[in-house]
Order: sequence, then structure tokens, then C-alpha cells
Amino acid sequence: MTDFDWQQYAQETQAIRVGHKRTHEDEHSIAIFATSSYVFESAEQASLRFTGKQPGNIYSRFTNPTVSAFQDRLALMEKGERCLAFSSGMAAIMAVGMGLLKAGDHVVCSRGVFGNTVLTFQNYFAKFGVTTDFVNLTDLSAWEAAIKPNTRFLFLETPSNPLIEIADIQALADIAHSHDCLLVVDNCFCTPVLQQPLALGADLVIQSATKFIDGQGRCVGGAVIGSEALIEKDIYPYLRTGGATMSPFNAWVFLSGLETLALRMKAHCDNAFELAKWLEQQPAVAKVHYPGLASHAQHELAKRQQSHFGAVVSFELTGGQEQAWRLIDSTRMLSITANLGDVKTTITHPATTTHGRLSPEARAEAGIKDSLVRISVGLENLEDIKNDLRRGL
Ligand SMILES: *Cc1c(COP(=O)(O)O)cnc(C)c1O
Repeated sequence: MTDFDWQQYAQETQAIRVGHKRTHEDEHSIAIFATSSYVFESAEQASLRFTGKQPGNIYSRFTNPTVSAFQDRLALMEKGERCLAFSSGMAAIMAVGMGLLKAGDHVVCSRGVFGNTVLTFQNYFAKFGVTTDFVNLTDLSAWEAAIKPNTRFLFLETPSNPLIEIADIQALADIAHSHDCLLVVDNCFCTPVLQQPLALGADLVIQSATKFIDGQGRCVGGAVIGSEALIEKDIYPYLRTGGATMSPFNAWVFLSGLETLALRMKAHCDNAFELAKWLEQQPAVAKVHYPGLASHAQHELAKRQQSHFGAVVSFELTGGQEQAWRLIDSTRMLSITANLGDVKTTITHPATTTHGRLSPEARAEAGIKDSLVRISVGLENLEDIKNDLRRGL
């Protein structure tokens, strides 16, 4: 199967066919290679493998056939040349920082990123002499103004969490490259099915496979995707040494997750779009944040950049935190959890959970109000989701 030029195939086909190298057992579904090490034919072969002069498996911290299949498949789906899998999405972000940054470097990061991403830059990379400035995701001139001679990369998520703002990836890639920096995009909310940042000029893409790629809330995992040159030089050596490796079992779950990703994303997005339109009509709802709505500030950009508008909807109630909590507590079916990207619809109060560790000032600056509720719309029947919310609204 290695002879196929899989780039010629559509993404749905790649998601199902790429990566599995069938063994002498003729298995149809890929095996979980539960082995930590591999046996060499000779001392010479061992030496050739270790020095990289001969391709092949060495040790499962950095070479495992099940994990490699996941990497090969996701690389093509993201329109990248090479993918490396990690033990979590955060481990993938850590690997990008560890691989690319040195003391004295600077990062420009969107304010609207995952809470732990902020803490990674602010609390950990700062300890080693890397400084980070945070800017508004949608303000191109703020990004450009924040770049310094020692800036190594720009980092963003689009759509952002929890306000579902959209960044212009192509414009930011141009800004980054004109200042000799890289653009790193966390593509977790869209997955490669809705958006392919590498094709828009980004240099590295991050995935948290924990979310939509698994899709059923079972495993934690992550990935970094980019060009062969960048991954080989800066990220792979860190994976090999740092060891935040994806387990073969998790890779096996994520491989089957990828097979149904396109179908699931379409169904998630259809449900989310309908729910967003319905929420906009509810008297208790003051504002709905969803890029599919004409009321969304980056509606046109979202139409251009994404193939669909995504599965996450957030909205502000007319009251405050009390009303938000009351709505959440009045649901019976929805899962009260901060996770997202599951077939089960989840509901959360960002100000007191995912973004609770930010100071009230930082939250206000990021526009995260106490009345904000975030829903990751699942695949249950839409009427049942609405009915579960209707009680509290
Ligand atoms: C969850 C998440 C992460 C972190 O991924 P884990 O697999 O939980 O470590 C990173 N970015 C975004 C946007 C996320 O939603």
C-alpha cells in the first residue's frame, strides 16, 4: 500500500485508507503493536537503525507501527508532510516550545487560547527566559506591533475558546513570515475536516486528538504537523528525548476516530448551527457567539476559511453567573463537563471552570463574561438538546 500516491485521494478516503501497512498476518484492521522494543537482524543493522541510516523501528518512545499509522494519516489529512503524535494536546504544545525556543526568545500569543496554553507560556517557558506577549486574536495590527526582533513564533487558536472568534490565518502567516517568525495554529476546534491551516501558510499545526478526533471521549492524545524539514530538525529530536509519547492503544482508537471524522463533523456542525439560530431567538439569551450567524463579527472570514462553522456555540444570558449556573443545573441530559468534541453534548461555565484560573481583569480583557455558557454540540437529536435547555431558559 506504500506505493499509492495518497495525496491524489480525497480526505475522506485518506482518513480510512492511509497508514496501515498490512503484516504477514493479512489483518484487515490495523493491529495494536504492544511492544516497547524491536529486534535487529545483526549488530550492524542495530547500528544503522540507531544512527538513522536505515529506516525502521527502534524503540516505542519514538517508533511504533500503530502510532506511525496515525501520524501518516493525520499528516495527509492536515496537508502536511510529517506528523508526530504526543501523549496529549498539551504535550504537543510543550514540544513545539521546547523544540523551537531558547532563552531570550519571545512569543506572541492570542489571548483567546486554551487556559493551559496560557499557563505553559506564562509559568513554564518564562522560567527559562522566554517572554510572551498576549494580543487580541482578531486585531492584525496588534499582532504585528507585538513582534520583536527576538520573536520566534506567533501562536493562536481559531476559532477561539470560549468566544468562538476567528483569526485570519493567511494574513497572520504573511505577517509572521515578513518578520522572520513562524505561525503555529492550534486546529483542535476545526480538525483538518473544517480547516487546514498549513495550506493557508501556517508552519505548524497542533491537534488535541482528545477532542473531535477521538470523538467519543475515551483517550487523551495530541499531535504536531508541519513540513518534513521543520519537524525533523526541531520537533522530532525533542519527542525522541523528551518522551511524551502516544501509546499504541490510544493511536489505535484515534485511527478509527479519523475514519468517521468527516461524517461526525458534518453532523456536529449541522446540529450546532441549528442550535445557535434557535438560541438567538430565546428572550433569556443576550448574545450568541457562533460564526455561522450573520451577527458574528467574522462571519465572512469564517465562510472563506472553514468548510463549516464548527460544533461549539457560546452565549451570554441576560443575567449574571447565577442565571448561567441555574441554566446549567436545570439540564438533565447534557453533560456538565469542560470537555468538548464528544458525541455527547457538553455544557460548561467558562468563567468558573476552564478560565477560572485567570484573574477577573484578564477575564474581562478577554471578554469572558460571568453570564457566558459554552456548549459543545453533540450528535443527540437536536430537539432533545433544545428541550433540555428550554427548561432553564
Ligand atoms: C483540550 C485542548 C488542548 C489540550 O489538549 P489535551 O489533549 O487535553 O492536552 C489544547 N488546545 C485546545 C484548543 C483544546 O481544546
